[in-house]
Amino acid sequence: MTRESGEGSRRWESLDPALSLSLLAGWSFLCRPDCALCCFATPAVTPSEMDRLLRIEPAAPFERGEAEFSIVPARPRGGACHFLTQLRCRVHPVRPFPCATYPVMVHLGSQAQADIVLSCPGVDLAPLSRWEGVRGPSDPPMGLDQELGRVAEEYGRRPVRAYLAEGKRREDRLRSRMQRRGGWIEPADLRELFHSDLPVPEKEDLQEAGPPDADSIADLPLFWDSTLGRVAFRRRGSAWEFQAIREEGGPQGLPRIFEPIHELPGLEPEARRMLEGYLHFCLERDFLIWMAYSEASGTRDASLEELVEAILRSLSAEARVRGAMRARLLGRRSDPLDRAAVEWGIRATDSDFLDQGTLGRVL
Ligand code: SF4
Ligand code: SF4
Repeated sequence: MTRESGEGSRRWESLDPALSLSLLAGWSFLCRPDCALCCFATPAVTPSEMDRLLRIEPAAPFERGEAEFSIVPARPRGGACHFLTQLRCRVHPVRPFPCATYPVMVHLGSQAQADIVLSCPGVDLAPLSRWEGVRGPSDPPMGLDQELGRVAEEYGRRPVRAYLAEGKRREDRLRSRMQRRGGWIEPADLRELFHSDLPVPEKEDLQEAGPPDADSIADLPLFWDSTLGRVAFRRRGSAWEFQAIREEGGPQGLPRIFEPIHELPGLEPEARRMLEGYLHFCLERDFLIWMAYSEASGTRDASLEELVEAILRSLSAEARVRGAMRARLLGRRSDPLDRAAVEWGIRATDSDFLDQGTLGRVL
């Protein structure tokens, strides 16, 4: 995060051929120095990253994470990572891998797929409007040189082949189990089915797309706004509560409360094109497909098609509702949604979606 960027991605052609970069096509990225949204997080660090961080800050706190990883804790009450001061990272030259590659992340399922987090305000969402069914933009990404360089470095260092073999074994086990009970469908066929006929959200999707519940402010989703800063949102009774969060943790200013909406907001033509582009983009994400397969492995109550349809409908409803609520917060019209409001909704939705479990793992 927080750096100069903007050159074309020279590494676009030179990463490992086993790593799919097709989802990065068309994006341009320029980090916003006043943002720091991605630092309201608890990055995982390897032992060697921890050593480098301790050389800069010998008293830095760490917590045990999964396997060999440790975690940089965030400050209490939804605050930022311990290393952030006045929106600047104090350990920037040795920042951990997830920070150095953000907004790029790599999903390891049965293939390695580079993906991009659209909640990052430094990512221009215009390419979503250029998706046509299965085909998205094909031009190289701009401004992601450093992030892709770090991905390439780490890709050679971590046991990626072993992770991919594990992902393949999981997929094979699921395939044979579902083939026996008659519910298997190849991922490519599943994608094609929905690219040609995107589902439309229904009334019950609106109810599901209400504000998130969470006991702890630290678990709430956040978005960034140029005037309000980092804003968390949650349920307050039946209403939506928005609250700016300080770097040190805790609220900044009064919460803003809005009544829920009872009809799915309509879409202006440009807004519709962008939202449909988002769904086409999501369909190509291994994250989404592996989420559905992961869920299918634990239930006999829904088919794979039904699960993918439910995910797409819920994404579409959440992006509309969150976009409408954010438009209200900014004193803008919330129905029908214009393109800016849909962008806000997509940004306020995307990182939640990427936190869901799949059959794979994140590099
Ligand atoms: S969220 Fe994106 S724009 Fe904001 S600081 Fe992080 S990388 Fe930069
Ligand atoms: S280590 Fe630095 S870049 Fe990473 S989350 Fe903390 S402050 Fe942000």
